[in-house]
Amino acid sequence: MHKRDYYEILGVSRDAREEEIKRAYRKLALKYHPDRNPGDKEAEEKFKEAAEAYEVLRNGEKRQIYDQFGHEGLEGTGFRGFSGFEDIFSSFGDIFEDFFGFGTRSGRRSRARQGQSFRYDLELTLEEAFFGTEKEIAFRRWTSCKACKGTGISPGTEPQICATCHGRGQVVRSQGFFQISTTCPVCHGEGRIITDPCRQCGGKGKVREERKITVKVPAGVDTGSQLRLRGEGEPGEHGGSPGDLFVVIHVKEHEFFKREGDDLLCEVPVSFVQAAVGDTIQIPVLGEENPQELKIPAGTQPGDVFSLRGLGMPSLQRRGRGDLFVRLNVKIPKKLTQRQRELLEEFARIEEEDKKKGGKNFWQKFTKSQRG
Ligand SMILES: [Zn+2]
Ligand SMILES: [Zn+2]
Repeated sequence: MHKRDYYEILGVSRDAREEEIKRAYRKLALKYHPDRNPGDKEAEEKFKEAAEAYEVLRNGEKRQIYDQFGHEGLEGTGFRGFSGFEDIFSSFGDIFEDFFGFGTRSGRRSRARQGQSFRYDLELTLEEAFFGTEKEIAFRRWTSCKACKGTGISPGTEPQICATCHGRGQVVRSQGFFQISTTCPVCHGEGRIITDPCRQCGGKGKVREERKITVKVPAGVDTGSQLRLRGEGEPGEHGGSPGDLFVVIHVKEHEFFKREGDDLLCEVPVSFVQAAVGDTIQIPVLGEENPQELKIPAGTQPGDVFSLRGLGMPSLQRRGRGDLFVRLNVKIPKKLTQRQRELLEEFARIEEEDKKKGGKNFWQKFTKSQRG
């Protein structure tokens, strides 16, 4: 079949510049656009011809080959023009958008779209968060159908270009001076109709699969920490990259330790005698088998807090660890033996005598403060 000269098709000179070529193509594309010439075979041919000419002449390398060796030269590089409207719209989708200045959605259906990302909630113990861990997680996700390579089309068959929208996925209606572009009701915006869907996936192009992966959790994670596993989400569409999997960490409450950022807090019971006279007590430390010793001074008050530096959680952001805060919970005995009671009453008497010698008691201080 005789092929016309590309410059002739677009009606431009051989030394035409890029802008001129684009303008010429724009004019022809508008004139022969399938929306304006429904069912017109000649217009369809002209539309395809112009697209092919533009594809070659807008591209420096192809244009050079064409200038030197003509159509045959291009065929030698494997260039075969466009197979149909769908091809043209997906290549020049952007151009059609600014040609028409509306309906920016046209052509978008065939543009690469990244797959959905999704989240997986992973529960850890505080010890696991402390040491870091590896967890195998299993989930179901969509994956590209292997039988049809994600196209949804039964292997060996071709989808048909939607006759209603001519592959654009959008239909344009005129209302007075306005043109309104809406999603094609026949192909639902896909631009093509699958007459023979893939049997494996029922034409969806994707199938559900059970996926198991091992997640490496670094030491120091906290509730709300997110681990991003690139490409483990849903497959992309039209050649888009797959989405990501976000593993969201939840650290369970611990029996002894409360966490605040990188610091840990634990409450340790001491008797009122230990608090009064002082003692050395044993403090549990997360991640260590042996307890740490802590000296508490005489006169320690209920709720007093002591800190043990560097015995908290490992830090995710920086090196080192947070601190361990120990809050003393002074226990008052609920039952006393006869002997204990006698000793405490003796203790009270001594205290009373001391007060008489000087110092005001609580009530005296309070009434004085009331009077001003
Ligand atoms: Zn399939
Ligand atoms: Zn359609």
